[in-house]
Amino acid sequence: MKNIAEVLENVKTVGIGGHIRPDGDCVGSCMALYLYIRTYFPEIDVDVYLDNPKPIFGHIDRIDDIKTEIKEDIRYDLFITCDVSARDRIALAGDLFEKASRTVCIDHHISNPGFADENHIQGEISSCCEVLYGILDPQKVTLPIATAIYTGMIHDTGVFQYSSTSPETMRIAGELMKTGIPFNKIIDESFYQKTYLQNQVMGRVLAESILLQNGKCIVGYLRRKDMDFYGVEGSDLDGIVSQLRLTRGVEVAIFLYETETQTFKVSLRSNGKIDVSQIAVFFGGGGHTRAAGCDLQGSMYDVINNITAEIEKQFCEEPKQC
Ligand code: 5GP
Ligand code: MN
Repeated sequence: MKNIAEVLENVKTVGIGGHIRPDGDCVGSCMALYLYIRTYFPEIDVDVYLDNPKPIFGHIDRIDDIKTEIKEDIRYDLFITCDVSARDRIALAGDLFEKASRTVCIDHHISNPGFADENHIQGEISSCCEVLYGILDPQKVTLPIATAIYTGMIHDTGVFQYSSTSPETMRIAGELMKTGIPFNKIIDESFYQKTYLQNQVMGRVLAESILLQNGKCIVGYLRRKDMDFYGVEGSDLDGIVSQLRLTRGVEVAIFLYETETQTFKVSLRSNGKIDVSQIAVFFGGGGHTRAAGCDLQGSMYDVINNITAEIEKQFCEEPKQC
């Protein structure tokens, strides 16, 4: 893998973009790269594009620089995507990616086909921020850059909890701590804290969840009318599927919510036996072996039946499971 100075050779303008509904790793990696280029390559004009980053990422330096609309007819020498698993997941900056003279993809999704000219993809690494750190000069990672990287790392590892967390993840986190980042504040305020309303909705989904397949599969759901009743959006529902996964005996957790009538966003989490990336890819989505997602159409029960049938098939591939 090239280092970032090599990637930026002979480049005068750079656009950076992440995926639709940007999460902590997406915002963290895009902003860390943006801050690094601004700090160490002042001769390069750099812009970062993301759709509606959440207020919980307000602690990241220069977060207000993010462009949420494309106004000018601009053509970049280089367009870099961070944490984007597939070409159709680049949010508002899709056209800018198409028009750029050269494209680079920095990512950690196992399902990523390598859609850019140059692909820096490491599917076994816990976050895109960790992949990005590997191509930066560690001596040049200042406190604001470290804050952005640490934010992405804690979001994609569930605060160093998921199995993708490696000794190298912890070593890098230690290096970032040495810069003096307010790590406890970042963890509380950007990861664990919920509004009263978000907690109420999570409580409702947990209360109505259903256990299937002898308790190995759990399903939580939220219909549009209930989302409207509480006044919540998809971005208020983070953490629900992770909580479902923590039900004793469960191997796979499914959470779906209705984005528009009869269209559902599906989130999948696995404790290891089932490869949910494979299930999501089957339905046109993608992700990681233990965390993946897709969009599906139909009635809520159709969606649940279709997804659980694929999970059942995988269970049946294991000896003595069916
Ligand atoms: P989440 O359930 O948190 O939305 O997503 C879990 C993981 O799956 C993330 O890494 C996310 O990028 C990926 N993912 C979620 N939905 C989709 C989708 O519709 N398409 C693809 N390619 N990846 C998805
Ligand atoms: Mn990620």
